[in-house]
Amino acid sequence: MSIVSCAATAAVPAAAPRFAGLRRVAGPAALNRDVEQPSAVTLQVSGRSNSRASRRCVATMAGTGRFVVGGNWKCNGNTASIQKLVQDLNAGEITADVEVICAPPMIYLPRVQSTLDRKYQLSAQNCWVGEGGAFTGEVAAEMLADNNIPWVILGHSERRALLGESDEFIGQKVAYAISKGLSVMACIGETLEERERGDTLNVCRRQLQAIVNCISPADWAKVVIAYEPVWAIGTGKVATPVEAQETHAGIRKYMAEAVSPAVASAVRIQYGGSVNAGNCEELARCEDIDGFLVGGASLDGAAFVTICNSARFNN
Ligand code: PEP
Repeated sequence: MSIVSCAATAAVPAAAPRFAGLRRVAGPAALNRDVEQPSAVTLQVSGRSNSRASRRCVATMAGTGRFVVGGNWKCNGNTASIQKLVQDLNAGEITADVEVICAPPMIYLPRVQSTLDRKYQLSAQNCWVGEGGAFTGEVAAEMLADNNIPWVILGHSERRALLGESDEFIGQKVAYAISKGLSVMACIGETLEERERGDTLNVCRRQLQAIVNCISPADWAKVVIAYEPVWAIGTGKVATPVEAQETHAGIRKYMAEAVSPAVASAVRIQYGGSVNAGNCEELARCEDIDGFLVGGASLDGAAFVTICNSARFNN
C-alpha cells in the first residue's frame, strides 16, 4: 500500500521569521512587497478603516486569497431532498468574489455532479489515507480524481472524535490526496474543554504541525484550512467575530513561523461552526476570515447562497 510518509516531529523553528502584517491586496507584486517589508511586526492592528476595524478586529494580518465557502452536507438527505437542494442552489446568484464547493454524501456525488450548476465545485467528505485496495468501505483519492471530484474535506472533528482519526493520520491523508491532484479543506479546531483551559491555539498548532510534517510549502496552495471550534459545530453557538478573528490571526502567525510568511498570507482560512444567513456578514468582515465551512445551513439552498454572497463584505 502506498502511503505518504511524513517527518515525525518537525518542530517550529526557534528563530521564526517575523511576520509582516499582510493585507488582502491582489497580485503577487503586493505579496512580495509585504513579505519584504523590513519593519515587520508580529501582529498588526488594522489601520485600514476605523469603522470596520472596530467592528471586526483584535489584531490582523489578513490573507490574500479569494473568499471560499464549503457546504458540508454530511450524512444528510435523500434523492428527493437533494434534488430540491440542487434546484435551489442552481437558482441562486453567486457573486464573482467567492469560490464555492459543495460536499454531498459520497453516494450522491455522481447525481449532484450531473445536475449542479458549474458555478459550484464538488468535494468528497473523506478519502482513504493511501492507494486503494483491501480497505472495505473506503474511497481512494485517485478514485475521486478519476471522477473529476477536485476537492476533499479531511480532518473533520466528527471523524476525529467518532472514528478516532489522529493528527498524524490526517497529515498523511492530506499529503496523499494532494499527491493525487486533489485540493483539501483541512479541518482543525479545539473542544470546549480545550478552549476553557486556554489551549485553543496550542491545539490548532498541533493539528497543523501534523500536516506541515507531511507536505511541502508548495503543497499549501492546494490546502484551505477550516478552523472549526468543536463547541460551535452543529450547536447553534457561533464564535464571536473577535474570538474567530483572534484564532485565525494566531493560525496565520503559526503558518508564517512553521512554513513561510508567503504561505501564511496566501493560505485561506475558513471559519466553521454554526454559520448561518444571519451571522455570516459580521464574520465575513473579519480580516483573517477567508471563507466558511458550513454544515447545517448548507442544506438550505437560499441560506447557503446568502452565506456565499457574504464574500462581498470581505475585502
Ligand atoms: C461542520 O460540520 O463543518 C459545520 C461547520 O457544521 P455547522 O455549520 O452545522 O455547525
